[in-house]
Formats: sequence, C-alpha cells, structure tokens
Amino acid sequence: MDFIDLKAQQKRIKDKIESNIRSVLNHGRYIMGPEIEELELRLSEYTGVNHAIACSSGTDALLLALMALDTGPGDAVLTTPFTFVATAEVVSLLGATPVFVDIEPDTFNISPTGLDLAIQAVEASDPGIHPLPRTEHSALRPKAVIPVDLFGLPADYDSIISAAAGHNLPVVEDAAQSLGGVYKGRKACALGEIGCTSFFPAKPLGAYGDGGMCFTRDRSLAHTIRSLVVHGQGSDKYENVRIGINGRLDTLQAAILLAKLEIFPEELDLRAQAAERYNRLLSSAVSDLTLPLLPEGYSSAWAQYSVLARDRSHRNLLQGRLQEAGIPTAIYYPTPLHLQPAYEALGYLRGDFPISEDCASRIFSLPMHPYLDPADQERIAEAMSTAER
Ligand SMILES: *Cc1c(COP(=O)(O)O)cnc(C)c1O
Repeated sequence: MDFIDLKAQQKRIKDKIESNIRSVLNHGRYIMGPEIEELELRLSEYTGVNHAIACSSGTDALLLALMALDTGPGDAVLTTPFTFVATAEVVSLLGATPVFVDIEPDTFNISPTGLDLAIQAVEASDPGIHPLPRTEHSALRPKAVIPVDLFGLPADYDSIISAAAGHNLPVVEDAAQSLGGVYKGRKACALGEIGCTSFFPAKPLGAYGDGGMCFTRDRSLAHTIRSLVVHGQGSDKYENVRIGINGRLDTLQAAILLAKLEIFPEELDLRAQAAERYNRLLSSAVSDLTLPLLPEGYSSAWAQYSVLARDRSHRNLLQGRLQEAGIPTAIYYPTPLHLQPAYEALGYLRGDFPISEDCASRIFSLPMHPYLDPADQERIAEAMSTAER
C-alpha cells in the first residue's frame, strides 16, 4: 500500500499526459511556452482570482508574495509554527523575522485570537502579552500574516482578516496543501491578498517535479510578481527594474498539470469520500482517537488525513500496529518550527506554543489519495483496532 499513490492516477490519464508532453517537445518552447499561460488562465477561472502567476515551487510562490510586499529586515511576519518549514523560511531569507502564533487544537490552523494578541505584542514590543523572538523583538514592526491551510483545510479567514485589517496587515495565504478547498463559498488561494500554492508531486494538484502559483486580485501586486519571477524584468528581458529571482515554472510541468487539472474536481470528490469512509470506520474501531474536524461552511482538499492519538505512546502503538500490517503512516509535523535548530537564534522556548507542541507529540497521518481502496481503509481500521485489545 502506498501512502500517496501517484501511479493509479498516471495510469488513468497516461495518454493525455504523453500527448501534452509531446506537444511541448514539438513546439520546443521549454521556458514560458503557451502551456504556462493556459494553466494560469484555467487556475484563475477555477479559483475565481483574476491574476495567476505560475512559478517554480510553493516556496518560491511564498517568497515572491513577500518580496512583492517589500518584506525585509525589521519586519515581523506572523505565522504558525505548526507547518512545513518553507512557510517561515521565506521570511528569514528576506531578513525579516517570523513571529509565531499558536494553532487551534481542532483544525491545526493559526488561532485568530492568538494572532490578535501577537500583533499587539509586536507593536508594543511586549512579550508579556505573547511570546516573541527573545533575541530581537524590540525593533520589529508587523508586516504581514501567513496563515497556512493545513492538510487542505482553509484557516478561519474572516477572523484572521479582521485581526489583520485593523493594523493594515496584508494576508498571504499558504495554500500549498489546500488548492481545491473552500471557505464560506470562496476557493482556497482566493482568501488573502495573495494566495500561494504548490504543485509538488504529493500535493492535491501535483506536477512531475516542482511548481507553484501566486494568485491575487490586486493588479499592481500581480504586475510586480510577474516581474520578480523573471529577474525583476521591466518592459523587456534586458531591462531590470527590481531585484528578482529565476522563479519560472517549466512549460513541461504546466503541460502535465493541464492533463491532471481535467480530473482534479473529480479527484477532490474521491478524496472527500475517502475521508468520510475513514471517519466512519475509525469512529467505531478506535477509542480516544481525535478525527479531523470539518467546520460548517468549509471543504478540505484532504491533502492529508491526520488524526490525534491520546498521547505519544498511544501514537507509537497505533503506528506500530499499522507498520506490522504493511501500512505506511507519516508524522506532519514532528517538531514545530519554533523548536527547530534552524530557528534557535530566535530564542523561542519549549512551552511557548503549547498546542502546537502537544499536537506534534500525538498527530499522525494515514494513507490518503483519490484512489484509496475502501478495502484497504477497512484493513487500516482493523489494524488500528488491534491496539485496543
Ligand atoms: C509543500 C509546502 C510548501 C512548499 O511547497 P514546495 O512546492 O515544496 O516548495 C509550503 N508550505 C506548505 C504548508 C507546504 O505543505
């Protein structure tokens, strides 16, 4: 059994993928070929955001978003410590400082109340209200917020935006896992000033290599991102009006994504069905297991199906039983970012973000993809139920 099975999907659309690849080989425009524009157009229609800019990864999408907002030294970017490192890494790469905010225990997404306190703490330079980087909090000013739609579930944007808007802070949505998710009738990637997604192969819409996209309704931000993605180019390739990056998406990846996009809505339904089956099977098979919450008005892209065990040893037991049955599992994320060696210099301590730390000690993810066999899901529930005996 695979944790994420990309072969079943490939088998289904192999002809389309091969013919799309062949047409790139025929026209030979490997950089900025016509497939790039077509993919941008399709995903702009899909998300309802009028500007979509393809780029080389989800990480670069986040980097481009922060660059377009002029993020730099002295800026505090508020985000969650319970995420993949890329979310905070781009902040540090620009010389700005990640200020972490703990998560909601039931959705694993950034706490809007915590965010409000953190913004006040940065403005007042008062770590008594909220933990701040102990080494450099005195000189920080709040610059932007990056909520993460973890495991495919959008964060609570109405509350986040109301906390951020009072301080004029733009919201950059880390939608690397949530393309296809919905929040109160609006699609993921459309929920902040700039939405950033990833086409890493294991993401809900995955390429056969790296890729990403920025979405925005703001014409001027879109214009800036389009320039930044090609070395800060101006009116032509050899006029450089700002410092940018080489952040383009490959034409070949766009061609592959166009083939996958055709079945993407159907795959999202299949993921949701698989999640419902897990909910049904696991609620009777294992006691003391917290199943993923799907709040009213939300749809998840189900990038992961993650559950909370009672404690660390219960997780070990359950993962052990699954492993014995040949079933792969994963832990997203074993160490919250404020406790990562890379962020030691910020001086955060264990205990600063207790909910993230608690989730990190109990969470694990089960196999999840659109082609998950219901019989395999029954085997998974059965293997987990043996831990009760
Ligand atoms: C995958 C991921 C990224 C980075 O995307 P890449 O395409 O791998 O660079 C950023 N944030 C989150 C939450 C992710 O899961």
